[in-house]
Amino acid sequence: MRKPMMVANWKMNKTRDEALAFIYAINENLPSCDVVDTVICAPAILLRDLVKRQGDNLRIGAQNMYYEEFGAFTGEISPVMLQTTGVEYVIVGHSERRSLFGESDELVNKKVLSAINHGLKPILCVGETLDQRELGITSSVIRKQLEIALNGVSVKDVSNVIIAYEPVWAIGTGKTAASSDAEEECKNIRQAIKELYNAVTADEMRILYGGSMKPANAKELVSMPNIDGGLVGGASLDPNSFLELVKCCE
Ligand code: PEP
Repeated sequence: MRKPMMVANWKMNKTRDEALAFIYAINENLPSCDVVDTVICAPAILLRDLVKRQGDNLRIGAQNMYYEEFGAFTGEISPVMLQTTGVEYVIVGHSERRSLFGESDELVNKKVLSAINHGLKPILCVGETLDQRELGITSSVIRKQLEIALNGVSVKDVSNVIIAYEPVWAIGTGKTAASSDAEEECKNIRQAIKELYNAVTADEMRILYGGSMKPANAKELVSMPNIDGGLVGGASLDPNSFLELVKCCE
């Protein structure tokens, strides 16, 4: 049985005071980590403060990292720096990183490998654009993203990777994938993991859906057999909305 997981991606939102008020508002009401893993991926500048407030029922993650440990990479944050904050997860290959900051599959692969080598669990985002969906090449696009991003990741290490299926056209647009379509793609991802690794690994891998998930549609999405939770942007910014989303996984 795969434990469900609900991950907030705050993106470039929340000051320190707002972030702490959010944690204060949800902390007492979070379901046990025996039932669901709850994670908040926050801006890097907030990580240390949030990690101080994390417990078993709430874990903290970063939204991005560079793959090198140190050096002349102005503005970047390294896996070593993330390690010192105490975060457990890091989002890698989010579509906003790919489209706005030019991240390639090859760069995403380096980040995945580096995260794993530094004991961080990557939340690896894959997904098709609207054009690719309309061309009917969704599954092959995702398959290629997976093959490149996981190149060199051993069967042992891949068990620490979480995959988020995020159709690009659904992110921040209010357009959610139909639960049957999201299920179909998550099932294809599981099949790809089976072919790249093995059936047990595929069966144990957590695959999340992301793209305008909100309390009104989350229950149906997470009830799909191959969808193990969500990666949520907009609807994770309000504590009550995020709590509702977490509770949909119970
Ligand atoms: C995301 O940022 O990963 C995301 C899914 O955003 P939203 O929920 O706002 O579509």
